[in-house]
Amino acid sequence: MKIAEHDQTIAMCNRCGFCQVACPTFRATGQEAGVARGRVALLRALNEGRLEWSPDLEEPLFACLLCGACTTNCFPAVPTADLIVDAREEYLEKVGRKRIHKLLFEHLLPYPERLRRVARAVALGKNSGLSSVARALGLLRIFGRDFPKSEKIIGRMPGYALREKFPPGVLEGRGKELRIGYFVGCGMEIMNPVAAEASIDLLREAALEVHVLENTCCGLPAGSYGDRKAARRLAAKNLEVVTAQPLDLIVTDCSSCASFLKQYPGLFDEGDPLHEKSKEVASRVRDMVEQALAFPPPKLEETEPIIVTYHDPCHASRGQNLVEQPRQILESLPGVEYREMPEADWCCGGAGSYALSHFETAMKVLDRKIDNVEKTGANVLTTSCPACIIQLAYGVRRRNLPVRVCHLSELIRERLPQT
Ligand code: SF4
Ligand code: SF4
Repeated sequence: MKIAEHDQTIAMCNRCGFCQVACPTFRATGQEAGVARGRVALLRALNEGRLEWSPDLEEPLFACLLCGACTTNCFPAVPTADLIVDAREEYLEKVGRKRIHKLLFEHLLPYPERLRRVARAVALGKNSGLSSVARALGLLRIFGRDFPKSEKIIGRMPGYALREKFPPGVLEGRGKELRIGYFVGCGMEIMNPVAAEASIDLLREAALEVHVLENTCCGLPAGSYGDRKAARRLAAKNLEVVTAQPLDLIVTDCSSCASFLKQYPGLFDEGDPLHEKSKEVASRVRDMVEQALAFPPPKLEETEPIIVTYHDPCHASRGQNLVEQPRQILESLPGVEYREMPEADWCCGGAGSYALSHFETAMKVLDRKIDNVEKTGANVLTTSCPACIIQLAYGVRRRNLPVRVCHLSELIRERLPQT
């Protein structure tokens, strides 16, 4: 929808400022332009003709984390993140978009094999120091103005991608029923294949069959950027993949993917056959965090005692209302002492590729999160989104804290009897 069509929603903002306390970018910058009230005021000014669409809008529109925390602290529940996504879409149409995004959304993310090849090249560059040469030549700047600084957020890259080890196909499970499609998130496949293997193993423990799917990117990065056409194309491809075989459930261990897959119906107009199809598929999508609880409880073994805290990814807590489930899982694990951190649902500042263009703000948001992690005295920090894992691991690394950062699936898997 165009911003002009959101006139009444924009008018719901009464300028009370209650969103300030909940907004990570406002708390990091202290600037009115960086809070929901300021962002909504900008959209109002556009509608009233007091502002023109121009490249000057890029910063305020793209500096929002889309975390949704403002809406939960707003009496009229102004959906600022949704408004900002629509404004970004209009910005791309009226002002233009960067070539790097066209490259990403049209030539890379729809093709998992190409993505794996690029990841191999990046891993080689990073792990061998070649990227320092590229950085010196300024080549990496094309990814975002802060890429040279943000590159260090990623430590060493894994030496393989998940589907190089587990090609798309059917894996036999140890359960008696349920055919589960494992939807492979790009972040899990490339940045965290070890955790993805743990998820597959947990699924095999409970299901009759686990189908490693030949899916592409879920479309969330394109959708958040405002490129809904690209998001729709990716969704259409994935709908074809997941409906090509009889699956009882489609499970993913990336909370961002799970949240976006559940939002597929909103990408297609009512009357479009893909709208109905995506509604049916969305009803079978499960985040690993919710599905792990639905399985019969596995036999778990005591291992060394650990103190664990949990970070709520925005796409799990506000995106899917999955708050109790991960805590129930952690409290049930033998050897785990669970400690809740203050502001556990406060965004970590990861927000996909946010640090590429807003490194300083991303680091201030991250610092607040790591302060809260430290308060718990935990030696393990767990979550369910690969982008959060990368960001949190960097936060821990740069303070030299003795805290392991890992996916929830890894913690459960480590307590299963080894087969
Ligand atoms: S967005 Fe909501 S909380 Fe923020 S100023 Fe407007 S009405 Fe108040
Ligand atoms: S979505 Fe998050 S970053 Fe954006 S205005 Fe709301 S609270 Fe702030």
